[in-house]
Amino acid sequence: MNLKEAIARFRTWQKTPRQYSDQNLGSHCCANCGHEFTGNYCPICGQNANDGRITWRSVGQSILNVLNMDSRSLPITLWQLLLRPGYLIGEFLNGRRRVCQPPLNTLFAVAVIYVIVMNIFGLDSDTDITVQGAPVMEQVSSWLKNHPAWGMMSVTMVMILPTWILFRFAPRNTNHSLPESAFIQIFMSSLMLICALLSNLLPWLFILIPLYYYVTYRQLFGYKFWGTLWRLFACGIVWFSIITLIAMVMFMFEDDNNKSAFLIGCMFPLIIISVILTTGYWISKKTSPTTTNSL
Ligand SMILES: [Zn+2]
Repeated sequence: MNLKEAIARFRTWQKTPRQYSDQNLGSHCCANCGHEFTGNYCPICGQNANDGRITWRSVGQSILNVLNMDSRSLPITLWQLLLRPGYLIGEFLNGRRRVCQPPLNTLFAVAVIYVIVMNIFGLDSDTDITVQGAPVMEQVSSWLKNHPAWGMMSVTMVMILPTWILFRFAPRNTNHSLPESAFIQIFMSSLMLICALLSNLLPWLFILIPLYYYVTYRQLFGYKFWGTLWRLFACGIVWFSIITLIAMVMFMFEDDNNKSAFLIGCMFPLIIISVILTTGYWISKKTSPTTTNSL
């Protein structure tokens, strides 16, 4: 098999990693409860149709069960998240819940791995960012550091709004809802936590963070190269503006003297956010092949 074939096979796997089929045609008698049935599982007690005599295959299956390595296990979920993130998220949104572990469980498991690896490599030592005269910012940054799952989630959740507005006329997963947008970002949090961990070990791997956002959004929403790139870039600017806005409001509560100056300062990110979201929404709607879909 040459490289071209290997890539083609990988691309096919990315889109359809597994087929579900009834491998047990005809009716069988359940070995556990004696019920007569057709299909893969007994409808009365839930036993697998293949369970009966103990074979070498049952031995292998038992070991995998002990290690919790079925299709919804953490290693297989992470494997899919790293190699086909957008397709996996798309399947989950479209109701295919048996394809992976629930996203929040995955996120907290990744956070545990994150803390353990950071401890092993001694990377959790104090590198506190001290902002002069801003104890609130110090508290926020140390809270983010000490709660990797919640911290990463609060950072990626800022992407919900720009993603929801700029990608709603996308060729794939059109008109996704706000709760769906939130679930997309929970998946992204796990992925970003892995990227953050890797870039703590090797700083140049920081490049994975924008790269994975690009790959995921391209697979998930189906825009081509430029369509994905400019929308994601716009999302990034909105993300940065919202974070700036939150930081400014925090500063405002600390410093009573310059309230009016801060209020004027807050106008800038607000203007940037509304201009980008309105323009992006308008362009996406105009260029959408499914413009007839009302909001
Ligand atoms: Zn049964």
